[in-house]
Amino acid sequence: MKQTLLYAPTLKEAPKDAEVKSHKLMARAGLIKQTASGIYSYLPLGWRVIRNIETIVREELDKRGSSELLMPALQPRDLWDESGRWAAYGPELMRLKDRKERDFCLGPTHEEVITALVRDYADSYKKLPLALYQIQTKFRDEMRPRFGLMRGREFIMKDLYTFSVNHDDLEAWYQVMKEAYTAIFKRCGLETKIVSSDTGQIGGDEADEFMVMSEVGEDTIAYCDTCDAASNQEFSGLEIGDPCPECDGFIKHAKGIEVGNIFKLGTKYSESMQAYFTDRDGKRKPLIMGCYGLGISRTLMAAVEQHSSESSILWPKSITPFDVHVIPIKYKGEAHVEKIDALVQRLESNKAVLLDDRDERVGVKFKDADLIGIPHRVVIGRDFEDGKVEYTNRLTGEKSLIDLDTLAELLQ
Ligand code: ATP
Ligand code: MG
Repeated sequence: MKQTLLYAPTLKEAPKDAEVKSHKLMARAGLIKQTASGIYSYLPLGWRVIRNIETIVREELDKRGSSELLMPALQPRDLWDESGRWAAYGPELMRLKDRKERDFCLGPTHEEVITALVRDYADSYKKLPLALYQIQTKFRDEMRPRFGLMRGREFIMKDLYTFSVNHDDLEAWYQVMKEAYTAIFKRCGLETKIVSSDTGQIGGDEADEFMVMSEVGEDTIAYCDTCDAASNQEFSGLEIGDPCPECDGFIKHAKGIEVGNIFKLGTKYSESMQAYFTDRDGKRKPLIMGCYGLGISRTLMAAVEQHSSESSILWPKSITPFDVHVIPIKYKGEAHVEKIDALVQRLESNKAVLLDDRDERVGVKFKDADLIGIPHRVVIGRDFEDGKVEYTNRLTGEKSLIDLDTLAELLQ
């Protein structure tokens, strides 16, 4: 991909309202652009990362027996009246009317729609269990949209729902999803802690949050310095230095960004919305539900927060928008251009390559490259005539002058 064809407007200064490092960098690197408060366009570089995260999410969920579907963002009030949430949800719900004055909302979450879908199908234990998910834009009129994609009013979420015949099956799915989330965040290059939490708005028995440790996080995590025990401090009340409830260790505090959230919903929606099935014993019973959210756009934000300095991003290999950034210091005529294009083509056989073919000073190119944060860098300078380029692995810091065959091998 040629950088001259890429819409990646880098900025010298971050927008005034950008308070945290990741927001500043994402705006400056041309990953996102604000359209209104809490509402963003994902520009090509940012969107490539989103797509990489989504691919990881899909792979980990599909191989564990769940299937993807897509539900409407626009939802009729009737369903929300059935669950009781039209009245209960409050001003965070984006409400609107159609031309016939009928009420609708823009989905902040999809328990109502999915319960209505499944109740019309899963009338027997023979059709259960089910694990269904979608990746979709959600709408919430947050009181304080901030930190870029961290708390948006329109954001991308993966939401998955399980439907079981009994609590043991729900428990089994819950553990499967916990594993899936652990794998997803690990593959995205994010270190997370699993934190037990209360069930808040949605209601139900048990819940866990997946937190990325970060100073800009809005939650306080009380975690053990010895074992894996961790809780949301707001609910556990554990203070620094308290003995760990599960081992001989002691409690520490840290800030965290919630990137995922899993709930055992139980029968809250199936009872209120009449989603019953006939069990093996011939009895009619409510479906037992679990719901599992993962903030795709917030994960992007958290990844930048965790993998950056004040002036540059450094993408984990798994989600980077491009693998290799090729930077010619100067173009010297047609033959030179062709030789560079040939090198790029060769590398593109197994890597995503961004070629900085812009007519810019080398200082500008390097500054932008640091900002954009592609892990492998190939600088084409004077030694290119002798078939050599300067290769930098920004993840390890290793830097060397190498010939083109060695480069191609290195990037295999
Ligand atoms: P929070 O406490 O941060 O408001 P929540 O409990 O409302 O989150 P859920 O309803 O469980 O979140 O949504 C699932 C996931 O969607 C969250 O774990 C988070 O990653 C993401 N998410 C929630 N609200 C937003 C938002 N306003 N902007 C971006 N991502 C969000
Ligand atoms: Mg919320």
